Amino acid sequence: STWWGNVEMGPPDVILGITEAYKKDTSPKKVNLGVGAYRDDNGNPFVLPSVRKAEEILHKKALNHEYAPIGGEASYTDAVAKLAFGENSPVLKNKSNVTVQTLSGTGALRLGLEFITKHYAKNKEIWMPTPTWGNHPQICNTLNLSHKKYRYYDPKTHGFDLKGAIEDISKIPEGSIILLHACAHNPTGVDPKPSDWEQLSHVIKERKLYPFFDMAYQGFATGDVDGDAFAVRHFVKEGHQVTLAQSFAKNMGLYGERAGALTFLCGDEGSAAKVMSQVKIMIRVMYSNPPLYGARLVQEILNTPELKKLWLADVKSMADRIISMRTKLRAGIEGAGNKLPWQHITDQIGMFCYTGLKPDQVERLTKEFHVYLTKDGRISVAGISSKNVDYVAEAMHKVTS
Ligand code: PLP
Repeated sequence: STWWGNVEMGPPDVILGITEAYKKDTSPKKVNLGVGAYRDDNGNPFVLPSVRKAEEILHKKALNHEYAPIGGEASYTDAVAKLAFGENSPVLKNKSNVTVQTLSGTGALRLGLEFITKHYAKNKEIWMPTPTWGNHPQICNTLNLSHKKYRYYDPKTHGFDLKGAIEDISKIPEGSIILLHACAHNPTGVDPKPSDWEQLSHVIKERKLYPFFDMAYQGFATGDVDGDAFAVRHFVKEGHQVTLAQSFAKNMGLYGERAGALTFLCGDEGSAAKVMSQVKIMIRVMYSNPPLYGARLVQEILNTPELKKLWLADVKSMADRIISMRTKLRAGIEGAGNKLPWQHITDQIGMFCYTGLKPDQVERLTKEFHVYLTKDGRISVAGISSKNVDYVAEAMHKVTS
């Protein structure tokens, strides 16, 4: 007998399930394009040279392991806020921001959304792009926060559905929250152009919506951290008081270290102080204070000019490798004489490509060719290398012709 006899088996995590199946596959040809983690050209996990340097520096400092402050160290939160909003952002200068360290991007989303359920005084309903990262609706479900959808991805063009998005957003009830992927949209790899963001900002302001940005891939889309922050900075320039979830999992390769941040822009210093007091109370009862190591690495990199320069080059090299794999993959499929359009492979950006493959084609790819990906046809381009790109291209050609 057990005290837990009432508990039913939960569904396995989709992405982790794919990795499990991949591990069991004994074929030497197998390729894992499911997991959203960067791999080098040999298919191995990648520790950024800038991170290695920061590790050496930290080791020499022989720091102690005392508790961090509830919201994280100021040397970290100041640096990450500057990275997102810009070195000279007025919202940082006038101290109207509340920025706390979180347990990576997921922790920032969870804390931010939980704060909304407790303290947001307008329409407690969040609107998300279709499709969006699976964890977004799941976190809302856990918090009993109502979530709805606006059009985003156009399956016909494999691109951004600007008209549909604007039409839908124009009808969202005033005071609602709108979730936006700041760059490198997951799962589609489709981002609005700067001029599209300008239109989105305009309609979001007109509808009096509250923008919540998820920025898990700053630098990963184009290789340029400032360029990738365009949407966030444009919204701020236009006067939006945004919320921002940040992650250093991908752009510093610190997946397991859980370094992230949550920022609320509060309009003025007085409101910021009140919001900060409540955010701290929420953190205190959840996990008391955040982990030190990842945040120490991040702040060392961002606050040391030579290290930051090295890091920017590391980010660019990861983004460039992904971009070159997109080019090779597309060329490989087209070169095999495939009649379908594949331009979207190179148009889309960031870690993921929404290939447009149908579920039965995905199944064939896995069963016949040992290529693992999610059923929606999303591939992690980071899992492609110069060694497997021809094989993946050939397999994609075969299942689509
Ligand atoms: N948001 C999006 C859209 C993501 O794709 C991810 C990671 O896959 C995250 C947030 C958060 O990741 P983490 O909690 O590892 O920082």
